[in-house]
Amino acid sequence: MASIIEQLLVLQDRDRKLMRLQREIDDLPERQAMIEAPLEAYQQAIDRAEEDIRNKKKEQNDLEAQIEQRRERIKKFRQQQMEVKNNDDYRTFETQIKKLETEITSLEDKELELMEALEGLETVRAEKQAAWANEKEGIDADLADVRQRAANIEQEYEAVKADRAKLAEGIDPDWLARYDRVFQHHRDYALVSAENNTCGGCHMKLPPQAAHDARKLDSMTTCMYCGRLLYSLP
Ligand SMILES: [Zn+2]
Repeated sequence: MASIIEQLLVLQDRDRKLMRLQREIDDLPERQAMIEAPLEAYQQAIDRAEEDIRNKKKEQNDLEAQIEQRRERIKKFRQQQMEVKNNDDYRTFETQIKKLETEITSLEDKELELMEALEGLETVRAEKQAAWANEKEGIDADLADVRQRAANIEQEYEAVKADRAKLAEGIDPDWLARYDRVFQHHRDYALVSAENNTCGGCHMKLPPQAAHDARKLDSMTTCMYCGRLLYSLP
């Protein structure tokens, strides 16, 4: 029969394993997010390009409507011009038409610039979409690795937990409760070595009596500074 200290040391080893595995489980969502982050960035760039494209197309439609409106007016003026009786009226129409034609030219210039900008945006969008597709494969593979790792960790966690429960059954309930309290409080070690008359948990120098008591295998001494349980294996 192992001494209580030996039993608790094995139990502590399982508890520390469980803690480490739990930390890994807790870190998984962040790791996943980190892996997916490049895709997110490309997606945002694609969304931005698409919004710009939508806005530019709307501007283009507006320009086309303005041009069309002027063309209609020119058509009407030309009809009216045919029916005038004197040169002055004729010239007045001519001036109006010239003015509208100048406006159309300037609107068409604007539309041309707009179309060039649109082309640039469409290139950007295509590039980002290609980059997204390019990254996606590698990222999917990395995500599959993480999911596999997560499954392994969960499995290992359950196995250690079951082992821990079995070990705990064989330990004196009073000692177990004491150990559990200290472990839950410190979250690192409940049981620490008293080698060199120093507490292995808080590293304070121990009084000679405490260091001496720590050598007893069937009883336990508590560090007066941190409350951890002390042991000293012969
Ligand atoms: Zn201590």
